[in-house]
Amino acid sequence: MSRKPQIRGQCAFCGREMTRGGLARHLSSCAERQAAIQTANQGSGQTQQLYHLQVQDAWGGDFWLHLEMNGSATLADLDSYLRAIWLECCGHLSRFSFGGWSGDEIAFKTQAARLFEPGMVLTHIYDFGTSSETLIKVVEMREGKPLTRHPIYSMARNNMPVVQCMACDQPAQWLCLECLYELDETGYLCDEHVGDHPHEDYGEPMQIVNSPRVGMCGYRGPADPPY
Ligand SMILES: [Zn+2]
Ligand SMILES: [Zn+2]
Ligand SMILES: [Zn+2]
Ligand SMILES: [Zn+2]
Repeated sequence: MSRKPQIRGQCAFCGREMTRGGLARHLSSCAERQAAIQTANQGSGQTQQLYHLQVQDAWGGDFWLHLEMNGSATLADLDSYLRAIWLECCGHLSRFSFGGWSGDEIAFKTQAARLFEPGMVLTHIYDFGTSSETLIKVVEMREGKPLTRHPIYSMARNNMPVVQCMACDQPAQWLCLECLYELDETGYLCDEHVGDHPHEDYGEPMQIVNSPRVGMCGYRGPADPPY
């Protein structure tokens, strides 16, 4: 059985490319990160608990983030971040819980420092119909001053997964939702084959973006971080 290679992503501090698990270990010892932490700690920010979060799509290994979240920030801040970078399509409801759907909901106003412990795993669900499910693992906690004036700092993100055009096997940049929903095809199209593609019942093919919600509900990206 062949296994496809794991998607890599870049450490925001030193630029090295690693897998999700490699970065989880690397970030605790990255010399460039340690230097950034020292600089921040000499600055004017507020000393608090800071949490290294490993965030991943619950159903596939390709989409993940390594974030550092301020202890004073709330789950509402994390929800906004996830909506911006991955999820937002039509303003659906979302919730946090332990243990998926069956777990009790955790209030959005909860502060990270009042909830998080290393090793803890939360589930975030966006859209209770065509749901996107995200796992948030608390990897580590440190005490210090934040690296940003925002509630969350991005330390790494998966590189864009490469998918193949269904017509020619070249890398695809587009997705036809009609092929995906009605014809049981992948719907992936390259720049050349998107030009004369005949389907428009679901609108023009959409540009593929770096998000696990591509192809779900009305999601069209842009899959950019909010800050
Ligand atoms: Zn690094
Ligand atoms: Zn939607
Ligand atoms: Zn093609
Ligand atoms: Zn099509």
